[in-house]
Amino acid sequence: MAEMNYLWTPPAPVSLPVRGTSTRFPVSRLFFVGRNYQAHAREMGTSVDKASMRPVYFTKFAAMLAESGSTAPYPPETRDYHHEVELVVALGAGGFRVSPQQAAGMIYGYACGLDMTRRDLQAAAKAKGNPWDVAKNVEMGAVSSEIVRADGRVLDRGEISLKVNGELRQHGDLADMIWSIPEIIADLSTYYHLQAGDLIYTGTPEGVGPVRPGDHLEGWIEGVGDLRFDIGPAE
Ligand code: MN
Repeated sequence: MAEMNYLWTPPAPVSLPVRGTSTRFPVSRLFFVGRNYQAHAREMGTSVDKASMRPVYFTKFAAMLAESGSTAPYPPETRDYHHEVELVVALGAGGFRVSPQQAAGMIYGYACGLDMTRRDLQAAAKAKGNPWDVAKNVEMGAVSSEIVRADGRVLDRGEISLKVNGELRQHGDLADMIWSIPEIIADLSTYYHLQAGDLIYTGTPEGVGPVRPGDHLEGWIEGVGDLRFDIGPAE
């Protein structure tokens, strides 16, 4: 095969470590569920009626991913940068229009993640009916721990929490997710041909709030693992 000639060196593939192995998980796309815990929907001034609604999704570039242990600058153009701790589902197989039963078989593993959010810009976008991109698609604004293999096992309970500077800020249970992991994968697969390497952030429990330069964040999910993330000075 002829060697490709690029104008400049393409970016390195985005990947995450897998616990217990030296092999890395190649990351394809980052999908996020908007509201998946009733208590968080309430704190955002809304509620979710599962019978009449479908999940809300948004995306971030894979290039926005930061590994656990990173320090990210406090981002520009916000005065209200928020933490959202979330269970991350890592897909090891693809699927299109799959059933919830088929969806479980696509699960490679799980990680503990953060969906960092410029809350002030999100509120302004909601008020004007504008897209959320600059509120959500923030450089180093999608954080993930290493991936722990699960091989099709569905997580349907377990504590999820976040501490900032040692103080508990978010605490919930995966059992309180409005849409289950198989339901999310199946629904998302009606819009996209899901593929191995896709990550799905499954929503945050209540207690979201602002971070400041110098803050140290520690996320934890029972049966999955923990995550550390530091906020550096503003650029
Ligand atoms: Mn979120």
